[in-house]
Parts: sequence; C-alpha cells; structure tokens
Amino acid sequence: MSDSVRAFIGLGSNLDDPLDQVRRACHELALIPGCADLRCSSLYRSAPMGPQDQPPYINAVAMLSTTLEAPALLDALQAIEQAHHRVRDGQRWGPRTLDLDLLLYGDKVIDSARLRVPHPGIAEREFVLHPLAEIAPEVCIPGYACAREMATGCPLNGMRRLSPDETI
Ligand code: ATP
Ligand code: CA
Ligand code: CA
Repeated sequence: MSDSVRAFIGLGSNLDDPLDQVRRACHELALIPGCADLRCSSLYRSAPMGPQDQPPYINAVAMLSTTLEAPALLDALQAIEQAHHRVRDGQRWGPRTLDLDLLLYGDKVIDSARLRVPHPGIAEREFVLHPLAEIAPEVCIPGYACAREMATGCPLNGMRRLSPDETI
C-alpha cells in the first residue's frame, strides 16, 4: 500500500476467557478493510489498573498498515469491542471482555473529543511499552522517545510474558 500509515493497537481483556478474547481480536484486526501486514506481540499477563478487585489482564500490542483515517480506524476497533460484548458500566478501568486502544497512528498527534493519539497512557503503562518494544523497538512515540528506551525505563510491576502455547 503506497499511502498507508503504520498504526499500533493496544489489546486488553480480563473477562470471559481473556486469552481467547485477545487471540481472536488479533485475527479480527487483520480483517479490517483497508488494513494489512498485521503483526501481534506475545501475550502478557498484568495486574489490573485502577480497581484492584478484578481479575488480572491479558495484554498485547498489534501493529498494522492502514489506509483508513484514524477516526475510521477507531470506529473499526470499537465495532470489534462491541462484537466481543464490551459493556461500559461507567466504572473507570473496570473489568472488560475486550479493550482496543489506538496507541500510535504514524507520527501523528491527534487531540479531538473522541480520539487522542498518542494514547494518553502510553508512556507509563508497562503492558503497553513492553509489548510495543517487543515488536517495534525503534518506533518513536511523539513527544517522548523510542519504544525501546521507554520500555527500558518502565518497571514490569509483576507483568509476565506468556509462552505461545500457555494457558492460564
Ligand atoms: P484508557 O483510555 O485510560 O486506557 P479505557 O480504555 O478503559 O481507559 P474506554 O472506556 O475504553 O477507556 O474509552 C473511553 C473513550 O476514550 C472512548 O470512547 C474513545 O472515544 C476515547 N479515546 C480517546 N483516545 C482514544 C484512543 N487513542 N484509543 C481508543 N479510545 C480513545
Ligand atoms: Ca485502555
Ligand atoms: Ca479503550
């Protein structure tokens, strides 16, 4: 694709078989019209953010090339969340079947009512920075540094990378 942009998506789940939710979502990202060359990181098991009375999370980061504009890509991500029965009950950082965050869209900085890129949490979240550095250590996070450098300075906080055939 000539005028495609490289985008990065953060995946997370802690309900209804999180490993399966994230694995399926990776396949579904590859099927979004206008998207190609999907690559997904290993899966990681991390502690919840915010409310602690919820199960641990399974996280990953995916990279793809897309000809979609960023808002259209967000639409597609939210449609996949809905297909996974994501329920928003108003609790910030509460448990969810699937969360898909648009982390990076090329080197663009976007600050609109429904979309902020780079994703506001990208610089401090271990479950974003480590899988991101695994698949694209050289990628630059606008306003910060490259993923490798950011991940090096980010403690794991107990997060563990899973082997490909691992079950939990
Ligand atoms: P966080 O954004 O801190 O990771 P969250 O993922 O739990 O929290 P959601 O409830 O999934 O938050 O999303 C709330 C809103 O965030 C969405 O409706 C969406 O419009 C907006 N949003 C802004 N920027 C982004 C982005 N880069 N990726 C995904 N959603 C975004
Ligand atoms: Ca999120
Ligand atoms: Ca989200």
